[in-house]
Amino acid sequence: MTEKTTVCIAGGGPAGAVLGLLLARSGVDVVVLEKHADFRRDFRGDTVHPATLQILDELGLIEKFHALPHQKVSTIGVVQEGRRIDIADFRRLKVRYPYMAFVPQWDFLDLITAEAKRYPGFRLLMNTEALGVVRDEGGRVAGLRVRGPQGERQIRSTLVVAADGRHSVIRRDAGFVPTLIGRSLDVIFFKISRRDTDPDEGICVRIGNGKIFGATDRRTYWQMSYETSTGGMEKVRGEGLDKFRADLSELVPFLADRAHEVSSLDQLSSLEARIDRLERWHEPGLLFIGDAAHAMSPVAGFGVNLAVQDAVATSNILTAELLRAQEGRIFDDELLARVRRRRKRAVALSQGLQRATQKFGIDEALDGSGQPPAPKVFEKLGVAQWLMSRVIGLGFRPEHVRTQEKAPEGTVR
Ligand SMILES: Cc1cc2nc3c(=O)[nH]c(=O)nc-3n(C[C@H](O)[C@H](O)[C@H](O)COP(=O)(O)OP(=O)(O)OC[C@H]3O[C@@H](n4cnc5c(N)ncnc54)[C@H](O)[C@@H]3O)c2cc1C
Repeated sequence: MTEKTTVCIAGGGPAGAVLGLLLARSGVDVVVLEKHADFRRDFRGDTVHPATLQILDELGLIEKFHALPHQKVSTIGVVQEGRRIDIADFRRLKVRYPYMAFVPQWDFLDLITAEAKRYPGFRLLMNTEALGVVRDEGGRVAGLRVRGPQGERQIRSTLVVAADGRHSVIRRDAGFVPTLIGRSLDVIFFKISRRDTDPDEGICVRIGNGKIFGATDRRTYWQMSYETSTGGMEKVRGEGLDKFRADLSELVPFLADRAHEVSSLDQLSSLEARIDRLERWHEPGLLFIGDAAHAMSPVAGFGVNLAVQDAVATSNILTAELLRAQEGRIFDDELLARVRRRRKRAVALSQGLQRATQKFGIDEALDGSGQPPAPKVFEKLGVAQWLMSRVIGLGFRPEHVRTQEKAPEGTVR
């Protein structure tokens, strides 16, 4: 069985979903494939940054977004030797939305895909996995092999966009190999209940004794993270549950009375974070964006914003050409190189900052031989805090929606 569309996107994460919406909104036929049955996945960043909020505003979605249960966080802090140092304060930015909004990523993706479904050219195929590329006689990528509830089939398209994340199947199948940029970090996630008497921390990282715990206030619970070097989960297993709870209680004293809520090591889920990137993001008929083009680590929470900005840049550059191709013109593959040209510096700088934070903050903190000096720099140098607020909040090259909406017939916004 074969079907056709103009753009076939592998992956319904932030990059794929936002690109799907943007293209469909301008009248491009698009199919988004998501291998899971819903968007409920492991914690992968529930942060919606000021730059992404601005994009939602440009798309007329900001009110719907604010109607989702969310929290606004203005500062990011590090607690070291019992003192909190704010390394970012978004209120210092001259932007319309000077805060980071915390929304479960599945709510964000549900909002984006529900909006996309208003446009007749959009189709979201859940439970459908991209298996690899289909090539025409000349070797150009001409679609995807997919497996869904009805079995395997092909979806032919003018363009395939691989937005299938840091373990991209399409990348492997098409023969693209990313360069490893940064050492890996293991992040162990768990939850602890929240009480009204708990401090109003927003998002806060606590450092001490060679350990790092991150606490993100989710109103009814704390989304906790425990950062370790690679292989850290084995170490935690070796040391046992009591030691883990004792470390948690020491670094986050207000949770000591609830450390017992971590009643089994099975409640801890570990994710390996790595930083890598492709040197080339495209070949004829195929484009990589988001983590599939450049995997981001959780450090400083850049990945979602960067993925969304890739999607906006892609639609700004390609929409007009895709509309022409939809009417029968041959698609100009040369344009694909412009997406990487536009985004590569922002990606390199963001990854560079993640590496520097890892080296001068995280590695020194995990080493345990002393307290990393990095947070204190923010206390002494006001400009460092402003810069960090800008970089986390807006990224190195904020993108804006430049494409026009082709409103579905009979709609009133
Ligand atoms: C542990 C951890 C914590 C993080 N925390 C943060 C944070 O707090 N803030 C932040 O901004 N960033 C964070 N990041 C980074 C962030 O998760 C990524 O940079 C971001 O999700 C990239 O978006 P994406 O759409 O490119 O890829 P992804 O979010 O990975 O989405 C890819 C999608 O494709 C689907 N998929 C995969 N393979 C296939 C296939 N073959 N066929 C069909 N569908 C497929 C997946 O199910 C997924 O839905 C974190 C990363 C890690 C590892």
